[in-house]
This record gives sequence, structure tokens and C-alpha cells, in this order.
Amino acid sequence: VSARVFIADALNNGAGYALELARDDTLTTLLRRVRDDMGAQLRDSRHADECTSSCPRCLRNYQNRFTHWALDWRLALDVVDLALGDQVRREWWESREDELVAGFVRAFEPFGPLDVERVSGVPILILGGADPAAAVLGHPLWRQDAAGLNEVQTGVAAELQRRRITRVAMSDLFTLDRSPFRVYSRLVPTSW
Ligand SMILES: [Zn+2]
Repeated sequence: VSARVFIADALNNGAGYALELARDDTLTTLLRRVRDDMGAQLRDSRHADECTSSCPRCLRNYQNRFTHWALDWRLALDVVDLALGDQVRREWWESREDELVAGFVRAFEPFGPLDVERVSGVPILILGGADPAAAVLGHPLWRQDAAGLNEVQTGVAAELQRRRITRVAMSDLFTLDRSPFRVYSRLVPTSW
């Protein structure tokens, strides 16, 4: 598994900035300034209270208009943390967890008994019934393939299995926000 950050000049033929910025010490300085200065502005309530994912004041511009749906300033700052070799900061996501999970439950509860629980601080959606299923709503940058699960995810899965919930799907809050039907389809039996 590897991760890469691409830096490119926006100007045709480039102005040479990307080459300069790609130098190790310059890149580290740049990333720290994004994390500390830009991060503080983005997390300030004057922005954070009004912008759940992206807006013209942070990430959106005319050039990236076709990917506005995918842009998210919290995730962007998490990627900066990872590029600097730090852990992602779950607390930024935790500030939106309650709202996202409550919205999902309101929308899908009429179709079956939905419970919300927390195991090791991670919210879990549980669809009850004869064949209960659970969706683990981890951090969007956590891997979800069986080989790449972290200790928190494997601990949560083991706890759910111990409670005889054998259908356990790894998902995340980004997917819950943008594509709630994808999360719900992981909960219902495949024979549906
Ligand atoms: Zn914004």
C-alpha cells in the first residue's frame, strides 16, 4: 500500500512552482502551514458551522466544478495529517457523527428496526431481525478490505461476532453522508 500527494502548476506549461514545492523541506513547510494556518481558518466556527463539506470559501472553484460533490475540507486536512506522517484526527469527524447517523436512522427506520451503538467509540448501525446485520461507520480514510483493517475495526468486528451478528460490513461516515443507500444495501440480506 502506498499513498501519494500530487502537486501541479495550474498554469499552462507551469511556472516551476511545483518543482520547488516538491522539495522535501519545502513540502513539509507547506503542509504544516496548510495544517496549522489554513486548518485553523477552516475549523473556525464562522466557516465550519456553515460548510459541511466544501464551499467557494474553501475548496470549490470554477476549475474543479466537476468534482465539487467529492470535495471535503475535513478529509483534505486529514490527508495533510497523513502526508506529514501523523494519525488522522477522529474528533473532526466525531463533530458530525451524531447528525449524520440521526439523519440516516430517520430516513431508513420505517423499513426495519435500526439501532445505533458505539463500540470502541465507533458508531455502528445495526439492522435487527432474524438475520441481524451491522455497518461499522469508521473514518473515511480507514481501509475497508479484509487485509487492511486496523485494530479498532477488527476489535469492533470481533465484538459484533461475539454477539452473533455475523453479517458485518465496514463502511464510513463519508459514504453515509453522500451515498446512504450504499450503506443500507450492505445491511439488508442479499436476497432482497
Ligand atoms: Zn467551505
